[in-house]
Amino acid sequence: MGLYHRASGEVHVIVGPMFAGKTTALLRRIKSEVNNGRSVAMIKSSKDTRYAVDSVVTHDGTKFPCWALPNLLSFKQKFGAEAYDKLDVIGIDEAQFFDDLYDFCCKAADCDGKIVIVAGLDGDYLRRTFGSVLDIIPLADSITKLTARCEFCGKRAFFTLRKTNETKTELIGGSDVYMPVCRQHYVNGQVVIESAWDTLESCSKAQTDSYQEEVAVA
Ligand SMILES: [Zn+2]
Repeated sequence: MGLYHRASGEVHVIVGPMFAGKTTALLRRIKSEVNNGRSVAMIKSSKDTRYAVDSVVTHDGTKFPCWALPNLLSFKQKFGAEAYDKLDVIGIDEAQFFDDLYDFCCKAADCDGKIVIVAGLDGDYLRRTFGSVLDIIPLADSITKLTARCEFCGKRAFFTLRKTNETKTELIGGSDVYMPVCRQHYVNGQVVIESAWDTLESCSKAQTDSYQEEVAVA
């Protein structure tokens, strides 16, 4: 089989903040490819062990078997060269964790004729570019930016706010650590979180006060 006999590859990119349904959208695409008789494989980062090692799981619990790998360029060898040649579609979840994303997408789509569907965070909790997801935009056939719901006001959320004071970029966590927010609440985020803590503290103080009053009355 020479280069000219291969079907042309494609790269599709799904980005957005956490809780925007990126994995759900990726799984929907992958499942429809399976229903169309295509041979598919899913890859996710072995850094993310939040739900399961050998399956991609959405926040709402939908599962799909996958390969958990430290990098993408090892995939062909691990999957087997012959099996790889028969693959039509490759899904990549949590793509921000793969440093070799650009090289892998180039090779898979340009040389190997694969349809590559990539889902990942475009930005980190400081709205800086995260990993190499944005590097593959120039390679892409399509780009979809999904949004979540702002946890404060319910408007469309474009950003991920970190609730803790931890400052390392790769802090893996769920709703215990992160929340989706709109622009206004991203900007006000720290203030809102701090005032939420103040409210909690003043609530517990109020309880203490009323307890002391009861004690005083008694
Ligand atoms: Zn909001």
